[in-house]
Parts: sequence; structure tokens; C-alpha cells
Amino acid sequence: MEVKGRRPHVLAVPYPAQGHVMPLLKLSCQIANRGIKVTFVNTEHIHAKVLATMHGDEEQRGIELTSIPDGLMPEDDRENFFIVTGSLRRTMPGNLIDLIEEINCKNSDEKISCVIADIAIGWILDVAEKVGAEPVAFLPAAAAGMALILHIPKLIEAGNLDKNGTMMQGELINLTDEIPSWRRNELSWSFLGDLKTQKIFFECCLTAEQTAHHAKWLLCNTFDEIESSACKLIPKICPVGPLLSSNNLKSSTSGGSFWVEDTTCLSWLDKQPVGSVIYISFGSIAVFSQEQLHELALGLELSGRPFLWVVRSNLANGLNAQYPNGFLKRVVEHAKIVEWAPQEKVLAHSSVGCFLSHCGWNSTMEGLSMGVPFLCWPYFADQFHNQNYICDMWKIGLRLKPDENGLRSRHEIKAKIEMLFDDHSIKANALEVKEMALKNVSESGSSFQNFETFIDHLRK
Ligand code: UDP
Repeated sequence: MEVKGRRPHVLAVPYPAQGHVMPLLKLSCQIANRGIKVTFVNTEHIHAKVLATMHGDEEQRGIELTSIPDGLMPEDDRENFFIVTGSLRRTMPGNLIDLIEEINCKNSDEKISCVIADIAIGWILDVAEKVGAEPVAFLPAAAAGMALILHIPKLIEAGNLDKNGTMMQGELINLTDEIPSWRRNELSWSFLGDLKTQKIFFECCLTAEQTAHHAKWLLCNTFDEIESSACKLIPKICPVGPLLSSNNLKSSTSGGSFWVEDTTCLSWLDKQPVGSVIYISFGSIAVFSQEQLHELALGLELSGRPFLWVVRSNLANGLNAQYPNGFLKRVVEHAKIVEWAPQEKVLAHSSVGCFLSHCGWNSTMEGLSMGVPFLCWPYFADQFHNQNYICDMWKIGLRLKPDENGLRSRHEIKAKIEMLFDDHSIKANALEVKEMALKNVSESGSSFQNFETFIDHLRK
């Protein structure tokens, strides 16, 4: 909110993980494009990663990137959600207050007037209120998941869930007919066989529920047509998605990658036939066994199609990938393997015909915005529910099913690739959803209008 004589100034604070930093940075770029000052606060550890991959055009984005400590020692495990979240909870409020006071002292005309906090660290909105700034939450996931979280008290009261989030009755949780139901292993907090982890995730969901009540706005990377039913269940939701770098007027990349994007894959894509390439990416966290990596490699080879595969250096259970004997030589003519891709640009490329994805919400929004059919391979959290949206509700993809040992076999992979490329109705649906997505962020689209309303509010 603008206090008389003061310019609005937004402080945006993501959770320190790739799938949280990137979409909030995209949103921040859009806000800055409208002439509003944005200070974007990463932890020092993430700040260093983000700066290392930027191309020096951050000035152009009109955002000030800054950092605060995460409270951890250099040797602490920053890949561990519990260690990181615990430390942030202890140290972040104090660090943020110091930062805000420093900013406010520097320029009294540009005091922080609004704090946008990732829902995963929604408790920092108390800080916003202490310094007289408007508390706004950002949801980098589907509205459906939030609708479920808001429903938790009722589910506990009705005996559907126990206090640890375990399903006690029935096989499904259903909110409305337009939202896929959740099976017991598809609840975003569920970790079957690991109650300790589940309890901690469930507690985080309960905290998110409180944040949703506390925040004045809940900005969400979704759009009305694909999630209208879920949006209706969330009182303060403001759908502003899909958040894409291409929404950004000043720069075609918003930045925020933790790895250096290998842009050579774009010129490789230029040489492939239209709609022929399988793009494979499992986001920033998912890992799998060496055995599973072999099956995937051999399935891709068996398909005989060109493929672009993102193999992070820690994809094989934290280690470098070992490919099957002779694989790299055999596929050299029609394969490209990179450590990190400029994903949005890849998905927008006309050569890409299929997205083999772990169904992270950002990847889901990016893939559907580019009209690319999905092959779904979810790992954890909301990814199973996103798969259900993709395959059952929007009908823009197929599931890769695990065998009795939990492995996706090379034969399953080859068969589903063929089915997907042969299925013209899935492609037609994907193009229809793309139209809707892009209409939403164009002038007169509902996400565009919602965003404008939020900007007007910031300026009042
Ligand atoms: N991404 C990317 N290059 C890659 C792989 C992923 O830029 O090679 C980006 C992708 O575009 C998305 C984010 O990383 O914005 C991953 O977020 P998502 O929610 O899909 O998955 P997570 O990493 O949180 O599991």
C-alpha cells in the first residue's frame, strides 16, 4: 500500500529452493515492469548461485537482489528441507527486520510497503505487520493443493484424517467433481512408511493454512479456467498465472536458475524436425537409482526419436549418471544431454513434441502454456495430484506406470512415447489449454486483470 508521499516498495521473499525462487522472481519482474520498486531477498547461499548464473542484465529487470543469512554453518546440509526450514524459522524474522529497517532508514520515501512471502515461509508475514507493511502470500503450487489444506480442519473433525495427516476412512478425498480426488499416497504431505517425515510436512501444511487466513492476498501461479473450482474454495486467492518469463516485457529471461543454462540445446533443437523431440526433465530435486536411469536411457533409445535430456550432476541418487554400455555412442546422432536447460525456451521450441516430466507445478504450468503433451513420472508431494490434473482432467498427457518393483521399464517408456505421439486428441487438447493459458496473461485475460488489480492496490 502506498502511504501518502511514499512510493510503493515490495519486499519479495522466496523459500530457498529452485521451484520457489524462479516463479517469485518472474512475478517480481512483472511487478517491477509496472514501475514498482521490488527488493528480492534470497538467502546468501542461494543469492550466490543465482548471481553466478545471471547474464549481467539484472539492472534491466528493475529489481534489487539482496540476501540474508540462512542461519546454517557452511558444513550443514542445505538439501535437507527440515534443517533449512528449522533454521529459517529461528533466524529469518530477526534478519528480515534488520534488513527492512536498514532499507527504510536509507530512503524514507521508499519504505517497504508490502511483503510477498512464499507460503512455505508464511510466518514471516508477522514481520510485515510489525513494520507496517501489507502481508501478501505467494503460492507457487496448484490452487487445488491449497483448497485441500484449507479443508484439513474439517477432514480431521469428520475423522477422515488423523492429527498426523494419515487417511483414516475411505480411499479417496474429494472436494468437488472438477478437482481430481486424492488417494492416500497422493496427499501432498503423505510419506507412506515414514510417519516422522509426514508429520513434519503435515505441520507445514497446517502453518500454510494459517498463513492463508492471515495474508491479505494469496497470489497464485494458476489461472481460472483450469482451476476455477479450486479457486472458488480459497477466499483471498488472486490467480496471476501462468507466470512465464515471456510475460516479462523487458527481458526474455527472468533469471533465478541455480545451474548455468546450457543454451547449445536451442541450436540443437533448431536442427530437429518440427514436433519430433522428447524433452526429459525431472526438475531440481527428484533423483533416481542407477538402475532406473539405465531403463530410461534404454527406453529413450528404443523409441528411436530425438531427445533432449536434462541430467543434473546429482540425478543418479546424488551421483553422476552412469549410462548403459555404448549408449552415448549409439544415440549421438539424435540425442542431446545437458546439465540444465533454458526450460521455458525449450518447451516453446517448435521441435519439441513431448515433455517427459516429474510434474512439478512450475513445469506443469510451463508445459501446458506451450501446448506440449506430457508423459508423467511424479515423485512426491503435489506431483501425483498434478499428474491427475494432466491425465484425467485436462487430458493432455499419459502416465508412465511403474512395474511391481516400482521401476518404469524401458518397454513401458517406449510404448507410452509411441502412444503419446500417435494420439492426436491429446495434442489437440494441449493446444486448447495453451490458448486458454496465453489468453489469461494477455490484456483482458483474467490473470492479467487480477494482476492489474493487485498493482492498483499497491499504488493506492
Ligand atoms: N528448470 C530449468 N531448467 C531445467 C529444469 C528445470 O529452468 O533444466 C526450471 C523449470 O523451468 C521450473 C523449475 O526449474 O521453473 C522447476 O520447478 P518445478 O516446480 O517444475 O520442479 P521442482 O524443481 O520444484 O521439483
